[in-house]
Amino acid sequence: MNNLETIAKDLYLMGCNVLINEPMSKHTTFRIGGKVALYVTPKTKNIFIEVLNYLDKNNIEYKIIGGGANLIVSDKFHDFVVISTEYISGYEIENEKIIAESGIPLSRLSFIALENSLSGMEFACGIPGSLGGAIFMNAGAYGGEMKNIIETVEVYDLKSKKILFLGNSNCKFGYRTSIFQKNNLIILGATIALKKGIHEKIKQEIFNLLEKRWSKQPLEYPSAGSIFKRPEPTFYVGTTIEKLNLKGFSIGGAQISEKHGGFIINKENATFEDVQQLINHVKKIVKEKYNKDLKVEPEIWD
Ligand SMILES: Cc1cc2nc3c(=O)[nH]c(=O)nc-3n(C[C@H](O)[C@H](O)[C@H](O)COP(=O)(O)OP(=O)(O)OC[C@H]3O[C@@H](n4cnc5c(N)ncnc54)[C@H](O)[C@@H]3O)c2cc1C
Repeated sequence: MNNLETIAKDLYLMGCNVLINEPMSKHTTFRIGGKVALYVTPKTKNIFIEVLNYLDKNNIEYKIIGGGANLIVSDKFHDFVVISTEYISGYEIENEKIIAESGIPLSRLSFIALENSLSGMEFACGIPGSLGGAIFMNAGAYGGEMKNIIETVEVYDLKSKKILFLGNSNCKFGYRTSIFQKNNLIILGATIALKKGIHEKIKQEIFNLLEKRWSKQPLEYPSAGSIFKRPEPTFYVGTTIEKLNLKGFSIGGAQISEKHGGFIINKENATFEDVQQLINHVKKIVKEKYNKDLKVEPEIWD
């Protein structure tokens, strides 16, 4: 990137934390990823918009990161800017609604809902990452998904330079998809519609779901969650991998979790290449035995 120092200074003066040559392995839950030219964290939503306008105007390539929980980043140098939404994390409660900014951790929001005896977000208590990332992915678990609780999404449209509000049906939520994967709208925040519930019941449900997650998922190791999407609603990839005796199979430092066949874990200093090879190995075997084409769920930054 040309003028790296100048860009860094401009973004700093706008109100961002700025890091040059920052390893992405520090910002992904997989703990894998090479250095990025600039890693910037705007301190407020308005600064975020200013940064987007600046990068757009100057034709500087960038990507957005929430919690980095759905990313597999290659080990090479990435010559672009990463904008983190980490500090854009305000929220307010209005009756049965939570109006929150995109960078707030999703699991935190489900505990905020609990504190206010609001029901509907229990499913999200153990999903890592930000509200923005969860909307982008239509994240879901244990029968719940973002689609069921999002009333409106506040976005920034770089083309018109306007803030827009999209209603739920305009978000085109599907299984781990949303309209945001296809357009260039930047998610600034959302209104989440919940229902008044009984505090103890919500708490118990959260406890049960967290317990289930801990007993089934390798949360004690870095990963990017489920590595494959279900190719069809009743085809469970984790169970299939287990049946194929692939649990525990390793390439380099990457391993198919012994606890959950659907997870690849970074067991010991795994490289991007280790993970890619393991993914390809599983894909090949599943294709041979079940004639199913597996697709990787996390986004790959190659
Ligand atoms: C241990 C573990 C368990 C998991 N369990 C689940 C689960 O049960 N259910 C599930 O659905 N997922 C699960 N995941 C995957 C992950 O938690 C979700 O996909 C989550 O929603 C990703 O959010 P994030 O903020 O980390 O997104 P990131 O990984 O930071 O980004 C993902 C994508 O969203 C885009 N994005 C992020 N913020 C914005 C924004 N503000 N505007 C526009 N685009 C944006 C990014 O550019 C990127 O394309 C799990 C992951 C792990 C590591």
